[in-house]
Amino acid sequence: GNGARNVSEAEKLESLNASVSRILVFVRLRPMGKKERENGSRCCVKVLNKRDVYLTEFTNENDYLRLKRLRVRHFTFDSSFPETTTQQEVYSTTTGDLVEAVLEGRNGSVFCYGATGAGKTYTMLGTMENPGVMVLAIKDLFAKVRQRSLDGNHVVHLSYLEVYNETVRDLLSPGRPLILREDKQGIVAAGLTQYRAYSTDEVMALLQRGNQNRTTEPTRCNETSSRSHAILQVIVEYKTRDASMNIISRVGKLSLIDLAGSERALATDQRTLRSLEGANINRSLLALSSCINALVEGKKHIPYRNSKLTQLLKDSLGGSCNTVMIANISPSSQSFGETQNTLHWADRAKEIRVKECEVNEEVVQVGEEEGADQAKLLLELQKE
Ligand code: ADP
Ligand code: MG
Repeated sequence: GNGARNVSEAEKLESLNASVSRILVFVRLRPMGKKERENGSRCCVKVLNKRDVYLTEFTNENDYLRLKRLRVRHFTFDSSFPETTTQQEVYSTTTGDLVEAVLEGRNGSVFCYGATGAGKTYTMLGTMENPGVMVLAIKDLFAKVRQRSLDGNHVVHLSYLEVYNETVRDLLSPGRPLILREDKQGIVAAGLTQYRAYSTDEVMALLQRGNQNRTTEPTRCNETSSRSHAILQVIVEYKTRDASMNIISRVGKLSLIDLAGSERALATDQRTLRSLEGANINRSLLALSSCINALVEGKKHIPYRNSKLTQLLKDSLGGSCNTVMIANISPSSQSFGETQNTLHWADRAKEIRVKECEVNEEVVQVGEEEGADQAKLLLELQKE
């Protein structure tokens, strides 16, 4: 009867939805800086109910008390973090589930974007006193690995790389630029250091050192270039045996990405896009915005090949991957334009649909690879 038809329709819908999921989008508002307060900036962003972001435009700085002149825009996201949010809260809400999934052999990626000074590096790397998502993720990962040590064997490797001016560099062992090539796991940087990590303590120092290897601004020599993208890749390999002693091998990859400053680079229309491309502003960020546009519009062809960054993020954006975006914004009225632009892109990113995340698993049957070794071992035992 009716009931049966409803069930089968619900099931059909479910099976259609099963292969599609969306990107989770979060916004983090940073506190007003001391300098900003001193030079008379006003706060133009409010976060309410952990979801709603209100952006106020003061159209005439002298007339701000006349409410008619205020224009308020409203946005909503999966979660929005007010300026009082701790690093731990940001980590747990945005990335905790992805770490769990990586242990099961699924890929995940988190990227921070926003204008220079909006808080991307603070969110991703943080400071010694207040470590960010990269460090908290690794800490959590090691705690979970320890809990599961009886179920099988986990090995954790780290790689930390930079894309700057269409050149890929290894931040853990700086040297010649790396070449990207395609292999069965996707696009990889040939010769990239894979650092075997055993504990959290060594990791913070390692990442801080890596961050110091990022390209600096030629004019101000200690400041990381606003055009540098940093990507931390955490690869977790897991090996165990099933009931028939077959080896089950799973590999999960978590990518944590501190993008270049988005100011001016994320153009919304094609004309501005082309003129910026001519000015050679940041090919990788432009390419990222083109890919996002193509993904939102459901295009067949996604132009990943246009830049090094989009090649590296291909499996995160369009592949089988849990993807999270954190948009960082400043509260200062002086950054109004950049904040508006960032919120616009964050709002658009909510529309991206990606393939449902699958487990990367390989099963080695007893008697295949193992068989040869076991036979050898038996022979040796018989000799004794
Ligand atoms: P970005 O990497 O986006 O250019 P930073 O992360 O370097 O920006 O942040 C700019 C400044 O603001 C830094 O001095 C940083 O310590 C500070 N800052 C950013 N976010 C926060 C926050 N949530 N709480 C406290 N200070 C922050
Ligand atoms: Mg930074």
